[in-house]
Amino acid sequence: MITTLLQSGNYDGQSALLTNLTTSEAFFLIIIIGLVGMVVQARLRSVFNKYSNVGLSNSMTGAEIAEKMLRDHNIHNVRVTQVNGVLTDHYNPATLTVNLSEAVYSSRSIAAAAVACHECGHAVQHAQGYAPLQLRSSLVPVVNFSARMAQWVILLGIIMMSVSGSAVVCWIGVGMIAMSALFSIVTLPVEYNASDRALEWLESSRTLRADEMDGAKLSLCWAARTYLVAALSAIASLLYYIALINNRRD
Ligand SMILES: [Zn+2]
Repeated sequence: MITTLLQSGNYDGQSALLTNLTTSEAFFLIIIIGLVGMVVQARLRSVFNKYSNVGLSNSMTGAEIAEKMLRDHNIHNVRVTQVNGVLTDHYNPATLTVNLSEAVYSSRSIAAAAVACHECGHAVQHAQGYAPLQLRSSLVPVVNFSARMAQWVILLGIIMMSVSGSAVVCWIGVGMIAMSALFSIVTLPVEYNASDRALEWLESSRTLRADEMDGAKLSLCWAARTYLVAALSAIASLLYYIALINNRRD
């Protein structure tokens, strides 16, 4: 409903704040990034499927490798647990747990080793007080709230703009969308750094052989690209709302 309302904004090519972007151009950008995102997701799935079926020479499970990486970093207060679902792997700083999906926890594959160590990379970041992770964690409650409310605030703002001519409420809504964009940008160094830590340790500890490292690098590289696409998508939708409000105001 809201999308229809927002798309009914005028497309007459008037210039937008900072960017000279029109709503139709911003919408086009969102579509293009969406398509790129589908390609990246498909590639990630195929790379993961491939390396989930390539066994490790050391025969260790994802969980065993995670335990070893934590120990090697002198982290003894973080538990490695198994969670249900597919691609549900995550590190929880509140409960100090590295949560691995069934496929990763007990799998003895290159993909499982890469994912397990990536999540441990977050545990190492947490233990060492890595600043972007702290910033990201502090943004979580703000983003949870603003992401839920932003579209409704903008909808209210558009109604108020047509009544009073003031775009203040609209811009508050845009500010809330900007928080989501900021969050997805801050997520990038956190994710890339966790993968770097994972690969460095896998190599230096000789947990993976050189030929196995290539598969781990490729798997984490495509996983990182999904975060890059998500950040670009968040920026594009922010630009769309800025253009939309500018065009409606003019
Ligand atoms: Zn991660």
